[in-house]
Amino acid sequence: MNDADAVLRLAADLVAIDSRSSVSNLPLAERIEAELTGFDIARVDYADANGVAKRALVAHRGPKGGLALSGHMDTVPDTGWTDPWSPRVVDGVLHGLGSVDMKGPVAACIVAARGLPESVPATLLITTDEETSKQGARAIAASDAARALGLRGIVVAEPTGLLPVRGHRSHIEYTAVATGVQAHSSTGQGTNANWALIPFLAEMKAVFERLRHDPAYHDAGYDPPFSDFNLVIDNHGTAVNVTVAKATVRIKFRRSRNVDYAPIEAAVKDAAARTGVTLTEKREGTPPELPADHPLVALAVRETGQAARTAPYGTDASELQDLAPCIVMGPGTIATAHTPHECVAVADLVAAVPLFRRMLAATPAG
Ligand SMILES: [Zn+2]
Repeated sequence: MNDADAVLRLAADLVAIDSRSSVSNLPLAERIEAELTGFDIARVDYADANGVAKRALVAHRGPKGGLALSGHMDTVPDTGWTDPWSPRVVDGVLHGLGSVDMKGPVAACIVAARGLPESVPATLLITTDEETSKQGARAIAASDAARALGLRGIVVAEPTGLLPVRGHRSHIEYTAVATGVQAHSSTGQGTNANWALIPFLAEMKAVFERLRHDPAYHDAGYDPPFSDFNLVIDNHGTAVNVTVAKATVRIKFRRSRNVDYAPIEAAVKDAAARTGVTLTEKREGTPPELPADHPLVALAVRETGQAARTAPYGTDASELQDLAPCIVMGPGTIATAHTPHECVAVADLVAAVPLFRRMLAATPAG
């Protein structure tokens, strides 16, 4: 089978297996393992926060010290889809949940690695839970199997149109909870949690404005230069004649590597303490960003003939950078990802194969 047929067949097979982040990915991991005859495979097993069995894979062949290709097995939920796991090709475009984000790119990584001579070091880091907690990438970065490989770099193959992305932001997710007492609102016996929450929200609005307008928090290397500080409010379905027992605010705060946000983080914490709401935070790794003259960036620029850039979204690179320097570069465009129209041009997937092979072959064992 030629590379083009192999990539399409494998991509379609992967799309056909449900691997939303909420379900176990073991069937998909087993399907991928079956493609990797001749590779040493380490299974990195864990249970996610909901107790669901998950598996990430570290697959390696050849000498140590080379480059790894990386992708994730999980997908976002099937919101809006009628047939998410029925892959089909129309006019050279593969449709299906996960086709571009990122089972198609994972198929290209596998076909690229498999087709190299055994003397070329080839590693695949196949994660899961990228769309939620990044737990799979974190587990791989901490695993002895991956650490023992002496990797010199990692290509995270998220769809970038095969343009080299040398850095992106990473986030802190804040959750603030105000507590009240539920009662029929007419009785005067209840306490509405929103009254405790509103002063906190007012302070968060000020933080948002500061990030948006104070140049001290802007990073000219990114578009947009200011940080995302997106706030979502939840009263958990309380009816309008009931006092709210629990009011939850979640905030996604995306940080740039080159900005000192200590005053912003302090402002959020101080506001919570002052207004009596309970604050917790989940923090991704520091924003991964390589300098423009880093050897891995230089290699990607040379092999693609394209300038390196930055991206506003996040990837597993925020965790995998603990293992080795990361760039993000993969086939397809992010435009249809996370929509019920997700698709990828098969030609884009196939074009990644020789590029990935050149990248791996140009990084000799260290
Ligand atoms: Zn993705």
